[in-house]
Amino acid sequence: MVKTVQLDTTSKPLIEFINVSKSFADQLVLSNINFSVKSGEFLTLLGPSGCGKTTLLRLISGFEKPNTGEILFNGKSVVGISPHQRHVHTVFQSYALFPHMNVFENVAFGLRCQKVPKDEINERVDQALRLVKLETLAKRKATQLSGGQQQRVAIARAIVNKPLALLLDEPLSSLDYRLRKDMQIELIQLQRKLGITFIFVTHDQEEALSMSDRIVVMHEGHVEQIGTPREVYETPKNLTVAKFIGEVNIFDTEVIEVNQKTIKVNIDGYLHQLANTKNFQTGDKLHMIIRPEDMRAYRMDETEGQERMLIGKVNEVIYKGCTVDLIIQLNNGKIVSVEEYFNEDDDKLEYQLNETVILNWLPGWEVVLPYEA
Ligand code: ATP
Repeated sequence: MVKTVQLDTTSKPLIEFINVSKSFADQLVLSNINFSVKSGEFLTLLGPSGCGKTTLLRLISGFEKPNTGEILFNGKSVVGISPHQRHVHTVFQSYALFPHMNVFENVAFGLRCQKVPKDEINERVDQALRLVKLETLAKRKATQLSGGQQQRVAIARAIVNKPLALLLDEPLSSLDYRLRKDMQIELIQLQRKLGITFIFVTHDQEEALSMSDRIVVMHEGHVEQIGTPREVYETPKNLTVAKFIGEVNIFDTEVIEVNQKTIKVNIDGYLHQLANTKNFQTGDKLHMIIRPEDMRAYRMDETEGQERMLIGKVNEVIYKGCTVDLIIQLNNGKIVSVEEYFNEDDDKLEYQLNETVILNWLPGWEVVLPYEA
């Protein structure tokens, strides 16, 4: 599921956070937030439970006020403007449908409150239901729908109002795995079709990577990094982002030699050369990170032509269908994960526990970060 739509990076921001902080009682839950949301993008707020994602969404919708800082919509401050005047709509995990109303009436409710003419209501609701593929269920009661269908009603109810932005607070987290995957694709397609800005909250990194134009990675009330899925996965800015997005093997080491553009480090006895992209000096400590899918394991009888970077013993073999994951214990006791893709007739599946393997990876595929205590 790769998004191919290119955003116009020159377009003016739709929403801007400028030095925004938010506390509840004496607990600071958002600290000095600065970023902007581009018009028409699919932006995801990603971070562990309690990092402030929902609070950030509630600041956009107007259900919370910042203690300090500014929030701008199209360049104008909205602090103090009530939620119903902001033209943003939230889709919640719990759907919040009216159980006694049918699908059509659930979607029409907001328009009826605004006294929109009847013909226009019919037209707009029909169009919204067609977009979420629910036109044949218009007369069905909300209680007689599956979880996925209820979710679509909640989305139709939001888009029928033609919002500036749709805020989606973990909308897929109560769906089962298969339905969730299907809904992810539907949401991406819907967002492309509508061209409305989607601000999506999740703590599921795979969901964020597969759906978003950009991801805001949050941790303990801070924004750690903002970037495209590739940027945050392949060039994480710090250890927090690297650890939160995807699996990582982290080697703590120090620079033993600096050459012109390279540095030499010792990884469990293996002298390895790295590009010196961060101006490291001899003696500087650093983290070298290698993703499990970038590591290769070789049995002792298949090492010919392979560089032996590290050596260890197989601790665990986990078959996952499209990959086989190995847990390897290095000579120094460190545990390393390796994720191997294989052909169906590949005997790589037959790793034995305790068997010795050598490990290597493609030089240049490491992420090198300054040491964090
Ligand atoms: P989750 O993924 O679990 O929903 P989150 O990242 O969305 O978490 P928030 O719901 O924004 O996190 O909460 C951030 C912090 O603010 C938490 O410590 C939470 O307990 C606290 N908090 C949120 N709302 C309130 C409130 N109304 N009063 C007091 N504390 C609150």
